[in-house]
Amino acid sequence: MKKPAVFMDRDGTVNEQMGYINHISRFVLLPGSAEAIRLLNNNGYLAIIVSNQSGVARGYFPIDLVHEVHDRMRALLERDGATVDGVFFCPHYPEGKLPEYSKTCNCRKPRTGLIKKACEQFEIDLENCYVIGDRCTDMELADRSDLKGILVKTGYGRGDLEYVFPHLPYKPFHVAEDLLEAVRWIVKKSPMSEV
Ligand SMILES: [Mg+2]
Ligand SMILES: [Zn+2]
Repeated sequence: MKKPAVFMDRDGTVNEQMGYINHISRFVLLPGSAEAIRLLNNNGYLAIIVSNQSGVARGYFPIDLVHEVHDRMRALLERDGATVDGVFFCPHYPEGKLPEYSKTCNCRKPRTGLIKKACEQFEIDLENCYVIGDRCTDMELADRSDLKGILVKTGYGRGDLEYVFPHLPYKPFHVAEDLLEAVRWIVKKSPMSEV
Protein backbone atom coordinates (compact mmCIF):
# COMPACT_ATOMS: atom_id res chain seq x y z
CA MET A 1 0.00 0.00 0.00
CA LYS A 2 1.24 3.45 -0.90
CA LYS A 3 2.24 5.75 1.93
CA PRO A 4 2.61 9.52 1.92
CA ALA A 5 6.10 10.84 2.61
CA VAL A 6 7.59 13.86 4.25
CA PHE A 7 10.81 14.83 2.51
CA MET A 8 13.02 16.62 4.98
CA ASP A 9 16.07 18.70 4.35
CA ARG A 10 18.93 17.79 6.68
CA ASP A 11 21.20 20.72 7.65
CA GLY A 12 19.29 23.54 9.34
CA THR A 13 16.12 21.47 9.46
CA VAL A 14 16.90 18.22 11.31
CA ASN A 15 20.32 19.20 12.63
CA GLU A 16 21.88 22.53 13.45
CA GLN A 17 23.07 24.67 10.57
CA MET A 18 26.85 24.78 10.95
CA GLY A 19 27.90 25.41 7.38
CA TYR A 20 29.46 22.28 5.89
CA ILE A 21 29.26 19.32 8.20
CA ASN A 22 32.88 18.47 7.50
CA HIS A 23 33.42 16.54 10.72
CA ILE A 24 31.21 14.21 12.72
CA SER A 25 31.50 16.58 15.71
CA ARG A 26 29.54 19.21 13.78
CA PHE A 27 26.45 17.06 13.56
CA VAL A 28 24.06 18.15 16.32
CA LEU A 29 20.36 17.36 16.22
CA LEU A 30 17.99 20.29 16.68
CA PRO A 31 15.64 20.07 19.68
CA GLY A 32 12.40 18.32 18.76
CA SER A 33 13.73 16.53 15.66
CA ALA A 34 13.39 13.08 17.17
CA GLU A 35 9.88 13.80 18.42
CA ALA A 36 8.93 15.13 14.98
CA ILE A 37 10.18 12.05 13.16
CA ARG A 38 8.57 9.76 15.72
CA LEU A 39 5.30 11.54 15.05
CA LEU A 40 5.70 10.84 11.33
CA ASN A 41 6.48 7.17 12.09
CA ASN A 42 3.36 6.85 14.23
CA ASN A 43 1.05 8.53 11.75
CA GLY A 44 1.78 6.52 8.63
CA TYR A 45 4.23 8.88 6.92
CA LEU A 46 7.54 7.84 5.43
CA ALA A 47 10.30 10.02 6.91
CA ILE A 48 12.80 10.71 4.15
CA ILE A 49 15.88 12.94 4.20
CA VAL A 50 16.87 14.77 1.00
CA SER A 51 20.15 16.66 1.30
CA ASN A 52 22.65 18.53 -0.87
CA GLN A 53 26.20 17.64 0.15
CA SER A 54 28.26 19.45 -2.45
CA GLY A 55 31.20 19.48 0.00
CA VAL A 56 32.02 16.06 -1.45
CA ALA A 57 32.47 17.42 -5.00
CA ARG A 58 34.27 20.48 -3.64
CA GLY A 59 36.81 18.24 -1.90
CA TYR A 60 35.94 19.51 1.58
CA PHE A 61 35.27 16.03 2.98
CA PRO A 62 35.08 12.45 1.72
CA ILE A 63 31.81 10.76 0.82
CA ASP A 64 32.48 8.28 3.64
CA LEU A 65 31.97 11.12 6.12
CA VAL A 66 28.48 11.71 4.73
CA HIS A 67 27.65 8.06 5.39
CA GLU A 68 29.18 8.29 8.87
CA VAL A 69 27.07 11.36 9.62
CA HIS A 70 23.94 9.56 8.45
CA ASP A 71 24.75 6.53 10.62
CA ARG A 72 25.15 8.91 13.57
CA MET A 73 21.91 10.69 12.71
CA ARG A 74 19.99 7.41 12.57
CA ALA A 75 21.54 6.20 15.83
CA LEU A 76 20.76 9.42 17.71
CA LEU A 77 17.17 9.39 16.44
CA GLU A 78 16.67 5.67 17.14
CA ARG A 79 17.77 6.29 20.71
CA ASP A 80 14.67 8.47 20.98
CA GLY A 81 12.43 5.99 19.18
CA ALA A 82 12.47 7.76 15.80
CA THR A 83 13.19 6.01 12.52
CA VAL A 84 14.31 7.60 9.28
CA ASP A 85 13.00 5.49 6.42
CA GLY A 86 15.35 6.75 3.74
CA VAL A 87 18.29 9.08 3.26
CA PHE A 88 19.07 10.46 -0.19
CA PHE A 89 21.80 12.99 -0.88
CA CYS A 90 23.47 14.73 -3.78
CA PRO A 91 27.30 14.83 -3.62
CA HIS A 92 27.63 16.78 -6.86
CA TYR A 93 28.58 20.31 -7.79
CA PRO A 94 29.22 21.55 -11.34
CA GLU A 95 32.40 23.50 -10.44
CA GLY A 96 33.76 21.04 -7.91
CA LYS A 97 37.32 19.79 -7.45
CA LEU A 98 36.78 16.04 -7.65
CA PRO A 99 36.15 15.11 -11.30
CA GLU A 100 33.87 12.15 -10.48
CA TYR A 101 31.39 14.38 -8.64
CA SER A 102 31.86 17.62 -10.56
CA LYS A 103 28.96 17.68 -12.96
CA THR A 104 25.54 19.10 -13.55
CA CYS A 105 23.32 16.39 -12.12
CA ASN A 106 19.59 15.99 -11.79
CA CYS A 107 19.68 15.44 -8.03
CA ARG A 108 21.08 18.68 -6.63
CA LYS A 109 18.12 20.48 -5.06
CA PRO A 110 16.08 22.29 -6.32
CA ARG A 111 16.27 19.63 -9.04
CA THR A 112 13.94 16.76 -8.30
CA GLY A 113 16.22 13.72 -8.70
CA LEU A 114 16.38 12.84 -5.01
CA ILE A 115 12.60 12.67 -4.77
CA LYS A 116 12.47 10.57 -7.95
CA LYS A 117 15.03 8.22 -6.45
CA ALA A 118 12.95 7.89 -3.28
CA CYS A 119 9.89 7.10 -5.42
CA GLU A 120 11.79 4.24 -7.06
CA GLN A 121 12.63 2.77 -3.68
CA PHE A 122 9.33 3.29 -1.86
CA GLU A 123 5.69 3.15 -2.88
CA ILE A 124 4.82 6.77 -2.28
CA ASP A 125 1.40 8.38 -2.32
CA LEU A 126 2.55 11.60 -4.00
CA GLU A 127 -0.81 13.32 -3.51
CA ASN A 128 -0.19 13.75 0.20
CA CYS A 129 3.52 14.46 0.49
CA TYR A 130 5.32 17.46 1.93
CA VAL A 131 8.78 18.97 1.66
CA ILE A 132 10.17 20.58 4.82
CA GLY A 133 13.29 22.70 4.68
CA ASP A 134 14.99 25.92 5.76
CA ARG A 135 15.96 27.29 2.35
CA CYS A 136 14.31 28.70 -0.71
CA THR A 137 15.84 25.82 -2.69
CA ASP A 138 13.79 23.41 -0.59
CA MET A 139 10.63 25.35 -1.40
CA GLU A 140 11.60 25.40 -5.08
CA LEU A 141 12.04 21.63 -4.89
CA ALA A 142 8.51 21.40 -3.51
CA ASP A 143 7.24 23.68 -6.27
CA ARG A 144 8.97 21.69 -9.03
CA SER A 145 7.72 18.42 -7.57
CA ASP A 146 4.15 19.67 -7.15
CA LEU A 147 4.32 19.04 -3.41
CA LYS A 148 3.48 21.30 -0.52
CA GLY A 149 6.51 23.06 0.93
CA ILE A 150 6.85 23.98 4.58
CA LEU A 151 9.58 26.44 5.47
CA VAL A 152 11.06 26.14 8.96
CA LYS A 153 12.55 29.18 10.68
CA THR A 154 15.57 27.23 11.92
CA GLY A 155 18.83 27.27 9.94
CA TYR A 156 18.63 29.79 7.09
CA GLY A 157 14.83 29.89 7.29
CA ARG A 158 14.31 33.18 9.06
CA GLY A 159 16.70 35.01 6.74
CA ASP A 160 15.39 33.46 3.54
CA LEU A 161 11.85 34.29 4.63
CA GLU A 162 12.68 37.94 5.23
CA TYR A 163 15.16 38.71 2.46
CA VAL A 164 14.86 36.12 -0.32
CA PHE A 165 11.23 35.04 -0.67
CA PRO A 166 9.90 38.55 -1.38
CA HIS A 167 11.77 38.35 -4.72
CA LEU A 168 10.77 34.81 -5.67
CA PRO A 169 7.82 33.61 -7.72
CA TYR A 170 7.08 30.66 -5.41
CA LYS A 171 6.19 30.79 -1.72
CA PRO A 172 6.12 28.26 1.07
CA PHE A 173 2.70 26.62 1.46
CA HIS A 174 3.17 27.02 5.19
CA VAL A 175 5.77 28.45 7.58
CA ALA A 176 6.61 26.77 10.90
CA GLU A 177 8.96 27.60 13.76
CA ASP A 178 10.79 24.31 13.46
CA LEU A 179 10.52 20.71 12.28
CA LEU A 180 8.35 19.61 15.20
CA GLU A 181 5.83 22.40 14.65
CA ALA A 182 5.80 21.62 10.92
CA VAL A 183 5.12 17.94 11.52
CA ARG A 184 2.43 18.65 14.12
CA TRP A 185 0.73 20.86 11.54
CA ILE A 186 0.90 18.10 8.90
CA VAL A 187 -0.37 15.41 11.22
CA LYS A 188 -3.27 17.55 12.44
CA LYS A 189 -4.45 18.01 8.85
CA SER A 190 -3.93 14.39 7.93
CA PRO A 191 -6.89 12.13 7.25
CA MET A 192 -4.91 9.38 8.99
CA SER A 193 -4.42 11.47 12.11
CA GLU A 194 -4.56 9.71 15.46
CA VAL A 195 -3.24 12.59 17.50
MG1 LIG B 1 19.10 23.25 4.94
ZN1 LIG C 1 23.50 15.33 -7.70
